[in-house]
Amino acid sequence: DTIGANLDRAVAAWPDREALVDVPSGRRWTYARFGADVAELAQALVAAGVGKGDRVGIWAVNCPEWVLVQYATARIGAIMVNINPAYRTHEVEYVLRQAGISLLFASRRHKTSDYRAMVEEVRGNCPELREVVYIGDQSWEELLGRGNPDVTYAELSCDDPINIQYTSGTTGFPKGATLSHHNILNNGYFVGESVGYSEQDRICIPVPFYHCFGMVMGNLAATSHGACMVIPAPSFEPKATLEAVQRERCTSLYGVPTMFIAELNLPDFASYDLSTLRTGIMAGSPCPVEVMKRVVAEMHMAEVSICYGMTETSPVSLQTRRDDDLEHRTGTVGRVLPHLEVKVVDPATGVTQPRGTAGELCTRGYSVMLGYWNEPEKTAEAVDAGRWMHTGDLAMMRDDGYVEIVGRIKDMIIRGGENIYPREIEEFLYGHPKIRDVQVVGVPHETYGEEVLACVIPRDPADPLTLEELRAFCRGRLAHYKIPSVLRILEAFPMTVSGKVRKIELREKYATSDR
Ligand code: ATP
Ligand code: MG
Repeated sequence: DTIGANLDRAVAAWPDREALVDVPSGRRWTYARFGADVAELAQALVAAGVGKGDRVGIWAVNCPEWVLVQYATARIGAIMVNINPAYRTHEVEYVLRQAGISLLFASRRHKTSDYRAMVEEVRGNCPELREVVYIGDQSWEELLGRGNPDVTYAELSCDDPINIQYTSGTTGFPKGATLSHHNILNNGYFVGESVGYSEQDRICIPVPFYHCFGMVMGNLAATSHGACMVIPAPSFEPKATLEAVQRERCTSLYGVPTMFIAELNLPDFASYDLSTLRTGIMAGSPCPVEVMKRVVAEMHMAEVSICYGMTETSPVSLQTRRDDDLEHRTGTVGRVLPHLEVKVVDPATGVTQPRGTAGELCTRGYSVMLGYWNEPEKTAEAVDAGRWMHTGDLAMMRDDGYVEIVGRIKDMIIRGGENIYPREIEEFLYGHPKIRDVQVVGVPHETYGEEVLACVIPRDPADPLTLEELRAFCRGRLAHYKIPSVLRILEAFPMTVSGKVRKIELREKYATSDR
């Protein structure tokens, strides 16, 4: 199916069920109205001269219009380019030019970000950019006014590119993955299958739509099963998220681990009624076992699922299922999704590792991107001749087929010849009562090559942990070479908009000896 055909099916099956709710503005769409508004916008885009294969940018925080643009561009076969709302002029100009965007949708402003001013500043440097439409502004109404219900749409194929999504930029400059209907619609559908979505479900989506977690695992998983998308706020706020779950009686809640940590630590956490929650998805970075257990026990999310994936694979390749037991649900990222293959190889030789041995995770199947947009050399480095996507992540497959993520190859610490996986130390340190959140990175050391640095956000800033306490906690329980030799107490970690900690920044910041 194309995304347009799949949406038509949802509209026919569930016309009166809710499709989309925007909590901040109180606006609501049934599937019938959502389908009609998508069609109206698609017609307007055609009238504005946007055709199949043309790039349409969206630089906006979460709002219903984001979702309408997603489905309207897919409907006409235009290629939607998701632009990170945290970008500033230099980066947005790069994307506008690199992707050759002809029409851009943008938020007017949000908090301190004046998107309109930034667009107007760079517009002159982007010759292919013909038109800018600001959401919630006159220009949006004007665009819709141009539509003509008699337009004919181009012939589409499931394998056409319809989306360029940039990776989070956790390890460097983001890369634009080009994706087809087939890639992302199937992935959204199967992710929804694993958590058992139906038209009874209402999904609270506080993760950004610009990222695959929001637009695929959220929106496409919802519409391919008739569920409702609930937008709690334009950008993540823990209070607004829990309020939305309560008010909209959500059955599912999404987040990266840091979002769940922020929600669980709200002083008034106990006052929210979260009893309607049944499931949810935690993904994007390592999901600490302690946090998973609290989500199950304190947020009623007995069936919460962990997903592992990456933008380049649409994104999910591994996921825990409804009927998995708690040990598998918290200790692994689940099993491979239907119709996909994964393997774990020795990164040096490419030979498949025996079960129980760590190596680089590779994914193959319908979900692998068409390629990085306009970057064939980078594509060839990531996707090999056998169409295997090399993820850059270290993983281990258990005998029962469940996979544990060990960490990113780039984050591995090599201290005096010993390989150290930060994840293992982080998991251990989560058990310390004075630690609220922790990141472990390697920093240069004269004799050992690297040494282990722990960055800690304390539970009580007035009584932070000391290096001596930290080391005492580890002694006798972790091998000596894994015990952090440097400690930094921080208020917050440097984050990507998709909610990942930029370890690269922590490493750079503390690389010098004055740490
Ligand atoms: P960039 O590629 O630009 O450095 P990124 O890899 O963070 O950024 P994404 O595509 O958003 O960009 O994220 C994919 C990565 O997120 C995976 O390669 C993996 O390292 C990490 N990841 C995703 N899910 C999980 C998970 N459940 N457990 C551990 N790591 C995860
Ligand atoms: Mg990546």
